[in-house]
Amino acid sequence: MPNPKRRHSKARRGKRRAHDALQVPQPTLCPNCQEPRMQHRVCPKCGHYKGRQVVQVEQT
Ligand SMILES: [Zn+2]
Repeated sequence: MPNPKRRHSKARRGKRRAHDALQVPQPTLCPNCQEPRMQHRVCPKCGHYKGRQVVQVEQT
C-alpha cells in the first residue's frame, strides 16, 4: 500500500480543511409565487416545480 513518506504540517492540513465547512442552505424565490423555497424542491406554497403543478396544496 502506498503511504505518505512524511507527516504534513498543521498549516497544510488547515489549508486543506479551509473548504470543509458546511454551508447554510440557501433558499431561492419560487418563480411561480415568489415565496422562499429550497432549491430542487417542490414549492411548499403553490406546489409547482419546473414550471408546472406537481402536487396539490390544500388551502386552509
Ligand atoms: Zn411557489
